[in-house]
Amino acid sequence: MENRAKLLGYDIDICSFEEAVDYAKKHSGQVVTINPEMMSNPDMLEIVNSAELVIPDGIGVQIGLKIIGYDVKRIPGIQFAYRMLEESDSVALIGAKPEVIEKTINNLKNEIPSLNIVYAQDGYFKDEQKVLAELKEKNPRLVLCALGSPKQELFIQKAKSQMPDSLFIGVGGSFDVWSGQVERAPEIWQKLGLEWLYRTIKEPKRFRRIFPTLPLFVLRVLKEKKGV
Ligand code: UDP
Repeated sequence: MENRAKLLGYDIDICSFEEAVDYAKKHSGQVVTINPEMMSNPDMLEIVNSAELVIPDGIGVQIGLKIIGYDVKRIPGIQFAYRMLEESDSVALIGAKPEVIEKTINNLKNEIPSLNIVYAQDGYFKDEQKVLAELKEKNPRLVLCALGSPKQELFIQKAKSQMPDSLFIGVGGSFDVWSGQVERAPEIWQKLGLEWLYRTIKEPKRFRRIFPTLPLFVLRVLKEKKGV
């Protein structure tokens, strides 16, 4: 998109939810819903900077952008991906455990009557070439990949080079949520931008992974701004 910020070397599109949807409807390629965890992994830099659309997902990215002078609203990746399911003629779902993707498909079909799923594959496959070939054969307009980072981004890079008309979104743990396996935080927590805190309390295993990331990320942004 036209208006891009550079935060810690990562290009991030400055846009609203609706602008991102509009853009994604008209373009193909890779959408990254970026968060501080991704930005702490140096392997992600090249992948993110070659993506067609990078939207600010977590509260951390919103804070980081604010520090360098951009006022943006967060675009929750899971909501963005759901909206794209409603907007796309044909879709593929790849990722999560077999029983999770099965429940996800059932729930989504009930919720979105127009949904046309042309390909589905759980995320624990051995033969990547086979999955890539099957996907290419179906050529869906939208491909949601829920393999976790950076696995999903690497998969998308391979697939997008062979499928010029498709839009790919890495959706992390979204299928776990849509299947009912993991609950989203109550709306008030979501509105306050504290979903990460709610999930962390509910799932203490995430604590060690997520908690230090956010303050360290903010520190890095502050240091970069000061030029230290
Ligand atoms: N996953 C997968 N294949 C793998 C590893 C993970 O399909 O080889 C799925 C996992 O079942 C989950 C999703 O990827 O549904 C996200 O995993 P995780 O929560 O570890 O990643 P994050 O959301 O933190 O990126």
